[in-house]
Amino acid sequence: QEPVISARDVRVWYGTTRGAIRAVDGVSFDLAPGETLGLVGESGCGKSTLGRGLMGLLPKGAKRDGEVMFQGKDILSLSPKAAYALRGHELGMIFQEPLTRLNPLMRISQHFEEAIRQHEPKLPKAEVTERALETMRLMGIPPTRYKSYPHEFSGGMRQRLMIALALVLRPAFVVADEPTTALDVLVESQIVQILNDLRRNFNTSLLLITHNVGIVAEACDRVAVMYAGRIVEQGRVSDVFANPQHPYTRELLRSTISLSTTGLNFIPGAPPDLVDPPEGCRFHPRCPDAMNVCATKDPVNIERPGGGRVECWLRGPEELIPPGGTEKLK
Ligand code: ATP
Ligand code: SF4
Ligand code: MG
Repeated sequence: QEPVISARDVRVWYGTTRGAIRAVDGVSFDLAPGETLGLVGESGCGKSTLGRGLMGLLPKGAKRDGEVMFQGKDILSLSPKAAYALRGHELGMIFQEPLTRLNPLMRISQHFEEAIRQHEPKLPKAEVTERALETMRLMGIPPTRYKSYPHEFSGGMRQRLMIALALVLRPAFVVADEPTTALDVLVESQIVQILNDLRRNFNTSLLLITHNVGIVAEACDRVAVMYAGRIVEQGRVSDVFANPQHPYTRELLRSTISLSTTGLNFIPGAPPDLVDPPEGCRFHPRCPDAMNVCATKDPVNIERPGGGRVECWLRGPEELIPPGGTEKLK
């Protein structure tokens, strides 16, 4: 099956007075129709930047490189106008800070009308209403609330509204950036359930950005683990979680599990400065398994046993490791 999204060597950097922040630094992945890919990693590793890049939604000063093919077009090279035309219609984005994006002076009906009319200006009003109500029903929002204002809804309902607005035109590809951060755990798993139903109904492909590894286990087909601007491991959720090949994936899973059982237990050390990341493997200053080669040579992206990709010298390729390279780094 042809992928819906095919990203190749995507790079995004922000110019600052300190130098360029390389927020996304050579990321590649494919997403099949109807598939959900969970994107996880510590704060600041570049998840939102990647998500926005995939939508053609980067801020003005950001520079980009690489290719994101969607329906035969490279999203990264579209003009802002062409990207805008795709967004909402074929591409949907659910933002990290959703509550600021509803207009308090507009009824819910007006929000839907605006979202639909931007892309289908000629659609008769009755049909606009019908589509909006159908989407509200799917999201578990009572249709009787169609004429209400945003402040008349609870936080969880407003979140659902945001998702409904992003999905009303049935986009082929949706990026959901931490759609659940502000919510309690119950609402969170409900929302993920609903996103999954929608995806099954409309064959939508979803990139789900989250801190919550549990949500990925529950709701995603595949997972991509991001560290310091790169995807260091990706594959089927069942394979990657049962048998992580990258030490960062392993530590991330371990810290998540102990977070729920024994209290705080983060991965020791801090993520690197993306203006000047460490030589070789970016994880090497924090990696319990670091070897000599890790401090000097970039790990090679290779196939993981069981499918998917990993970049870590522990997995090879051996023929590229110089003599003495496998000795433990002091
Ligand atoms: P979080 O989990 O906290 O949402 P994230 O993984 O989404 O983090 P990003 O928001 O993509 O991370 O940020 C990646 C890096 O780029 C960070 O170092 C951040 O400070 C920097 N950054 C993000 N947006 C901008 C911007 N508009 N201008 C300059 N630097 C930025
Ligand atoms: Fe650790 Fe080396 Fe693998 Fe990086 S390449 S994760 S430092 S073992
Ligand atoms: Mg983010």
